[in-house]
Amino acid sequence: MSDLSRPFGPKIIAVANQKGGVGKTTTTINLGAALAEKGRKVLVIDLDPQGNSSTGLGIDPEQRDYTTYDLLIEDVPLGELILSTETPGVFLIPATVDLSSADIELVANEKRSFLLHDALRQVGMDRFDFDFILVDCPPSLNLLTVNAMVAAHSVLVPLQSEFFALEGLSQLMLTIREVRQTANPDLRIEGVVLTMYDARNNLSRQVEEDARENLGDLVFATVIPRNVRVSEAPSFSQPVLAYDTLSKGAAAYRSLADEILQKNNTIAA
Ligand code: ADP
Ligand code: MG
Repeated sequence: MSDLSRPFGPKIIAVANQKGGVGKTTTTINLGAALAEKGRKVLVIDLDPQGNSSTGLGIDPEQRDYTTYDLLIEDVPLGELILSTETPGVFLIPATVDLSSADIELVANEKRSFLLHDALRQVGMDRFDFDFILVDCPPSLNLLTVNAMVAAHSVLVPLQSEFFALEGLSQLMLTIREVRQTANPDLRIEGVVLTMYDARNNLSRQVEEDARENLGDLVFATVIPRNVRVSEAPSFSQPVLAYDTLSKGAAAYRSLADEILQKNNTIAA
């Protein structure tokens, strides 16, 4: 395989954790919105058949003529796949339940792990000039998640501040190691972000302590608080940054975006 990585192309981040309900979709949408607010052009790829990031960004199922399934498997022009959203600077390739069959259909495909990698590096991508591509992964370490890790420069791991949170991490880290050894040696861990954090709760503080002790610098200084405005925003088809721009949740995602911009040596606006 030729090295098609483009140093000046978009930074591709897979938002992954095989546990459901830990904040992958919420982080994808709101980090995307925060990066866009800071002047970056962001593409969100919904790689979960549940299509939650598509809904959360205001793209109804009727509007999903083409989806990530087509990006992976069909030859559909990028101009048809990439939708603009109500959030300026945030674009989306949506998902529908179609995608759940992709996992099975792909097994026979020789290039099955590289479909997203190749799709995101097609020449037509350049003209969109994205700064970041955020891939919202399904709650599983299946072929879709592997596609995201093969395509990505890094993995961002949301970790719910709850008991057992760290247990699932070792399996995730094993998968990352496997992908490094086989398809994507340069895959990095962007960081681990604690989500749904409740400072009044001993358990949250304990999970944070354990995470920082075990993972050190990999854990972002920013923690995302449990905040009802964050959970309400998707039913208004908006990132929390638009739904309640002064909320604690919005502030936390802005701070996470700043950390990521710093890590990637681009100055936060
Ligand atoms: P995943 O994509 O990992 O399955 P989600 O992002 O969908 O997880 O989050 C699971 C649920 O938790 C959703 O109902 C979401 O609204 C809620 N949630 C996520 N982050 C927060 C937060 N910081 N505060 C309150 N609720 C949250
Ligand atoms: Mg999700």
